[in-house]
Amino acid sequence: MLKQYTFKELSTSALTALVTRNADDTHAIQDVVQQIIADVRQDGDTALLSFASKFDKVDLEKLYLDKADIEELAMTITRDQQRALEIAFQNIHKFHSSQMRRERTVETMPGVKCWREPRPIERVGLYIPGGSAVLPSTLLMLGVPARISGCKEIVVCSPPQQSGKINGFVAYCLQLLKIDRIYLAGGAQAIAAMAFGTDTIPKVDKIFGPGNQFVTKAKSVVQSMTNVSIDMPAGPSEVLVIADETANPAYVAADLLAQAEHGPDSQAVLVCTSDTILAAVDSKLEEQLQILPRAEIAKMAIANSYAVKVDDLQEAMQFSNQYAPEHLILETDQWESLTRYISNAGSVFLGHLTPESAGDYASGTNHTLPTSGYARSYSGVSVDSFVKKITFQHINAEGLNHIGSTVEILAELEGLHAHKNAVSVRK
Ligand code: NAD
Repeated sequence: MLKQYTFKELSTSALTALVTRNADDTHAIQDVVQQIIADVRQDGDTALLSFASKFDKVDLEKLYLDKADIEELAMTITRDQQRALEIAFQNIHKFHSSQMRRERTVETMPGVKCWREPRPIERVGLYIPGGSAVLPSTLLMLGVPARISGCKEIVVCSPPQQSGKINGFVAYCLQLLKIDRIYLAGGAQAIAAMAFGTDTIPKVDKIFGPGNQFVTKAKSVVQSMTNVSIDMPAGPSEVLVIADETANPAYVAADLLAQAEHGPDSQAVLVCTSDTILAAVDSKLEEQLQILPRAEIAKMAIANSYAVKVDDLQEAMQFSNQYAPEHLILETDQWESLTRYISNAGSVFLGHLTPESAGDYASGTNHTLPTSGYARSYSGVSVDSFVKKITFQHINAEGLNHIGSTVEILAELEGLHAHKNAVSVRK
């Protein structure tokens, strides 16, 4: 089922081509996205209503749902489903709360004190995907750290469903997060609306959230057009599984398919030291695909995926670090000794009993993660993503005495005499 390559036989260029994904070389996505952004800037809400009709196949009367609608929708889910969302909420809250550590004040010289304090970003925009699958889990992953950070205004956008509303799970998550309004806009148009503002949707300072290629491209385009920033490029999902002869082929296949069912552009990569396991995973993929409701989507993603045969786990890590996966799963007894060799990955799942699904939903870590190789330089969403860290300093007479001449000399050598004078007048 999976195309197969042998690591040792890959030339440098073949390796580079293999680890490159979602390149949009023809700018096809960019062109579509730029037109959508231009339309939203020009026609605001009217453009949003027309895109909802075109892409989401729904004619909306208004572009948002309020508290009463949200309450009504939230009541449509069962108590067991509510309980599962509450447990996920609590675990995500527990894990992210630990990120609110206060940094200590540092006295760099006697009388010269420096420190940093976080301040919430005031207006944040959360994009909750809702094209091929609605992801209430993403609302928790973004909403919880936004609440912990103390952001004042939380704007949530998600594509409208066929009913012209959102589903009950998203509604219940909105209640858990104490968010009273959701805007019914999806795709690049939602990102444009949050970046520029429309009559209905407020402009925000930073946009968060994963999405398909249109959403991801729109985030990078609006970032270059306005002073709005983004969390990271979090595009079509991907997993890389490293397996050796100790791996259970059924678990490996299940993990690959869990990724593949996200969308046809998702990628599931298996890096394996054993031919026997490779063959067994292939047959488990066939078997498990039979019973998946989203088998058609998963098959397309599997066609866009591959396996790499390696000689040993060191070689596996070499490939993985080059790929820089959003999700990395180590299905080997050796996971403990392997973790120190990981240099590029969004989120890592260790051992045979840690499925990625646990982190996708409920273990506590964030599932909004860098894709397409951006794990080389970006981290996943955390409380830090929702704050600015402002530096402070205070210098007293003793401090000025210690640091004054250093600053004067440095200012003079750069030819900035006003800088020098700002110290000299105080001495
Ligand atoms: P989505 O909400 O991202 O996109 C749906 C919207 O795309 C539609 O409302 C429509 O406006 C727009 N669209 C669809 N076809 C279009 C076209 N031809 N032209 C212009 N716009 C169009 O939902 P989705 O499509 O289901 O994608 C969700 C994505 O999020 C998946 O690729 C999944 O892998 C990814 N994801 C990533 C992470 C991460 O952390 N990286 C986490 C969860 C999900």
